[in-house]
Amino acid sequence: MNPSGPLIDRFGRKVSYLRISITDRCDLRCLYCMEEEMTFLPRAQILTLEEIYWIAKAFVDLGVEKIRITGGEPLVRRGALDLIEQLGRLPLKELVMTTNGTRLAECADRLATAGVSRLNISLDSLKPARFREMTRVGRLERVLEGLEAARRAGFECIKLNAVILKGFNHDEVIDLARFAVDRQLDISFIEEMPLGLVASHNRSHAYYSSDQVKQDLEKVFTLLPSPVRTGGPSRYFTVAGTGTKVGFISPHSHNFCADCNRVRLTVEGRLLLCLGNEHSVDLKQVIRRYPGDGNKLRQAIVAAMAIKPERHYFDLQEKPVILRHMNATGG
Ligand code: SAM
Ligand code: SF4
Repeated sequence: MNPSGPLIDRFGRKVSYLRISITDRCDLRCLYCMEEEMTFLPRAQILTLEEIYWIAKAFVDLGVEKIRITGGEPLVRRGALDLIEQLGRLPLKELVMTTNGTRLAECADRLATAGVSRLNISLDSLKPARFREMTRVGRLERVLEGLEAARRAGFECIKLNAVILKGFNHDEVIDLARFAVDRQLDISFIEEMPLGLVASHNRSHAYYSSDQVKQDLEKVFTLLPSPVRTGGPSRYFTVAGTGTKVGFISPHSHNFCADCNRVRLTVEGRLLLCLGNEHSVDLKQVIRRYPGDGNKLRQAIVAAMAIKPERHYFDLQEKPVILRHMNATGG
């Protein structure tokens, strides 16, 4: 059998979007994402950059049109820029990246030239001390320098991502939105997802809903519903009188699952069919058993569509059912 695309699951959803975590490592330790002391995966357990490329290519051969590079912090992996340049030569509609911005001052130009069209940059606070508290080790100034370098590099779009935690940064949503409007950037506000166990805060106490963020913003801005849909958990609005789009990412509402168009490749080579479930297929095993055999890889990917779950269930009151952390999964 010569497997061909498009990739369609049991519920008739077309999978056209692959998110790839290229490393579980990071130079920050955000409270909601990692423990202070982390043990990272040994090198033999993670995909090589070449393996990542071949898996990405198999997806593109099967009709995937959009790839997001994420992590961990993608830019801390040695050779990341070479991989991105290779991916940029695949026939994709969009190659995009999520980064914490700490290395953008050096990397932004090369990313733009490689064909990365859009960047998501995480920024939870504009106050240096608070930024440090939430990332445990980060320097806000570095990220702001990176952001400026990215603005100069001429990406089609730059979006800020802010995870909002009550008692940490919930009082900054208006300042963050204003910062984005002033710089003609987009911004998404994210509810914390219960991935991995965290010791630093109580997740149900720190829960600050997207509806609450929206209400706060509407005291100052007029938000007009935007037709933009990404097949994910985001709803978008335009700030009236500006080009800025504001997104609300609410994993606690299930209603986006019906349009889900994405799968994730973990740093260990597991193809995860849903962020909120453990259903997965081990593509590392396939690529290592049949090196250079694109057919076997494509077969495994097509077969995986049969186990993509219909929806996910997150419960704030319960212990997390998903014990992996976001950095290994690719946020
Ligand atoms: N290191 C990069 C960064 O921070 O942008 C890319 C990887 S990070 C895992 C991707 C996104 O996931 C970030 O915007 C981060 O804020 C978000 N994130 C991490 N842990 C999360 C959690 N438990 N709930 C919601 N969002 C989370
Ligand atoms: Fe690192 Fe991104 Fe996780 Fe923060 S959210 S610890 S920057 S991977």
